[in-house]
Amino acid sequence: MDCLFCKIIEGVIPSAKVYEDDKILAFKDINPQAPVHVLVIPKKHIASLDGIDSTNIDYVNHIFAKVPEIAASLGLGGGYRLISNCGDDACQSVKHLHFHILGGKKLAEAMA
Ligand code: 5GP
Ligand code: ZN
Repeated sequence: MDCLFCKIIEGVIPSAKVYEDDKILAFKDINPQAPVHVLVIPKKHIASLDGIDSTNIDYVNHIFAKVPEIAASLGLGGGYRLISNCGDDACQSVKHLHFHILGGKKLAEAMA
């Protein structure tokens, strides 16, 4: 499968990792939109939020269980935003489920 984030998981494409375990990987976004911009992905190909089902929900649960720990390790005690773009209207550009952790400054109020 020709998936950029699967290649990052496999190590074929390098990334700046900030957290990794058997189910998930977190790494710095290559084009940061905030002082801290990290992507958290499941180590299983799920195309988007719409691809979540009973066979892969444990990966998503694990992401949510670990986000507070990852955010704390990034120094985001003042708060952060967690975003997942799903589909064309949301401008999803990589078709492997990912959650953006954004922070390190006071973020804009507007989300869309
Ligand atoms: P989306 O637009 O799909 O929600 O987010 C995809 C994100 O992946 C973008 O913020 C983009 O900067 C990031 N990205 C695209 N290619 C790479 C890459 O090769 N390495 C890293 N670390 N991030 C990437
Ligand atoms: Zn993938």
